[in-house]
Amino acid sequence: MKTIGLLGGMSWESTAEYYRILNQETARRLGGLASAPVLLHSVNFSEIHSLLGMEEWEAIAAHLGWLGRGLRLAGADFLLICTNTMHRVAEEVEMAAELPVLHIGDATLQEVTRQGLDCVGLLGTRPTMEQEFLRDRMQKQGVEVVIPEETDRELVHRVIFEELCRGVVREESRAAFARIVQGLGRAGARGVVLGCTEIPMLLRPEDVDLPLVDTTRAHALAALDRAGVAAANAGA
Ligand code: GLU
Repeated sequence: MKTIGLLGGMSWESTAEYYRILNQETARRLGGLASAPVLLHSVNFSEIHSLLGMEEWEAIAAHLGWLGRGLRLAGADFLLICTNTMHRVAEEVEMAAELPVLHIGDATLQEVTRQGLDCVGLLGTRPTMEQEFLRDRMQKQGVEVVIPEETDRELVHRVIFEELCRGVVREESRAAFARIVQGLGRAGARGVVLGCTEIPMLLRPEDVDLPLVDTTRAHALAALDRAGVAAANAGA
């Protein structure tokens, strides 16, 4: 099995989910006491968040690249950046760390395709919804992407940082997200990508009518495939 290097702590709430999914799924696939071979560097998110607020992408890339390098030296075979937003600098991190990054957009596209969705809504932080780095991956493969309108983008971004990244799950926010998902459906989306690794803590499949694509889970499962943690029925 290959060793998965996690760049986490963005936020630690969702990194805990990655860790749980990686281990639960390894046990499910391999049985017994099997657990996932991982190395984790969990950052102080307040530092990264300040840089994000100033859109200091170069500094973020340099910081994460340096940490990725450390994971390589410690024995990681490839990297997972445990957040959608920080994939804005995925290429720079890969170059600085000299280690391949398993892109969350590729894992997401795989799941979107598996679910047969040709037009998806996208929820995430402002950079994730408004910039190209995640949408591109899907659009290049012919999947249409729709995003909420300005005031709803503001709401989603605020809930992510003021609530979900602090472990706060509010019914009111769940209802607001469900309403936004409905609007995306009216705009043509046949499913919705939860393009922020904390959103699955809030919005569950039973809260909405459209199918959801959980990027945290898709990313973690793709990492196990890459690491060679094969399901027994796949011939492991
Ligand atoms: N975890 C979030 C994401 O998937 C947001 C936190 C961050 O800015 O990295 O985008």
